[in-house]
Amino acid sequence: MKTHEYQAKQIFSSYGIPVEKHILCFTAEDAVKAYDGLDTETVVVKAQVLSGGRGKAGGVKLARNKEEVVFYADSILSMKIKELPVKKILISEAVQIDSEYYVGFTIDRNSKSVILMLSREGGVDIETVASETPEKIYRFTIEPFVGMPDYLAKKIAFTLFKESTQVNSMAKILKSLYQVFIEKDASLAEINPLVLTKENRLVAIDAKMTFDDNALYRQTEILAFFEPTEDEKIESSAKEKGFSFVKMDGDIGCMVNGAGLAMATMDMIKLYGGNPANFLDIGGSSNPDKVIEGMRLLLNDKRVKVVLINIFGGITRCDDVANGLLTAFQKIESDIPVIVRLTGTNEKKGRDLLRNTRFIVAETMGEATRLAVGSSKN
Ligand code: ADP
Repeated sequence: MKTHEYQAKQIFSSYGIPVEKHILCFTAEDAVKAYDGLDTETVVVKAQVLSGGRGKAGGVKLARNKEEVVFYADSILSMKIKELPVKKILISEAVQIDSEYYVGFTIDRNSKSVILMLSREGGVDIETVASETPEKIYRFTIEPFVGMPDYLAKKIAFTLFKESTQVNSMAKILKSLYQVFIEKDASLAEINPLVLTKENRLVAIDAKMTFDDNALYRQTEILAFFEPTEDEKIESSAKEKGFSFVKMDGDIGCMVNGAGLAMATMDMIKLYGGNPANFLDIGGSSNPDKVIEGMRLLLNDKRVKVVLINIFGGITRCDDVANGLLTAFQKIESDIPVIVRLTGTNEKKGRDLLRNTRFIVAETMGEATRLAVGSSKN
């Protein structure tokens, strides 16, 4: 689960991590009140969307007077960033930046532990730094039984700073950020940029946290921040219907029985040059109602040009599945190409039932995938 900058800043503040003064606003009028309330000449108007790169997209602007605050608040509140409409903005005190840094705790799958990443290349996209100049990122693997005691936080702080006040402030931030990462079951706790101000203070002027969805049951205050995207709303309604569904951005709708086979189907689509529109595991039954519900999910996505149904009949027999598909499609009004690959128990019987119907029948996964990818490109 992702959170907005203002939410992450709220969490950071409660752990003593210094953030600049800021006020959340929904309208240009709110923004003017916030500007008056902050009692500072220059403020930053910042889009609050669940996406990075807001600055590049024009969603972070410096305003030096009331007129500019109104102008930028209005223009940012009417824009979309990476397809996400901006509904909230932050009016933040503009800090005098001397230098910008990157600080982030995340999970490293290779070392199976939490890692801390630091860089002097703050304020830019860290993925770009990691791929183009990886030597500019310092990485520290955190021993779970050691954590981030004072001596270690100070030792690490010396990587970026030499001066004692700066080292001490940085060490405090590292300790608090690690604590928040662990206590809140985060998968990412990131400050980009952490700035050193002209007044020699370290301030987190951006804040990003993502959380482990599987831990949300015990993080009620984090769960209260949850704002599902349109895709997440579809995914959770699919979950209520008993499907395991994840939306993706391709054009080949997939309906598969079994999570492993569903993953393999998506891999194979990619291998043949196509793009899956989703992951959908409909489970092991031939129930036509499930097929109807599953098809509805797929066809609601207007990008879907073709549907690939990949079924392995183990306990579920392929002829039952074929009959289920025939019954289901009597109730589905769509002329979208549907490719069906059936294999396993009674596969021949199943395939025979589907021949000369609205379905395109395939025997192997390779054949079915090639047909689906070909059809998606037409
Ligand atoms: P994003 O990473 O989404 O583009 P940031 O929060 O990192 O957004 O803001 C982009 C840049 O805007 C920062 O790197 C910084 O230079 C500037 N900026 C953001 N907030 C402030 C602030 N409160 N005071 C001064 N400059 C700021």
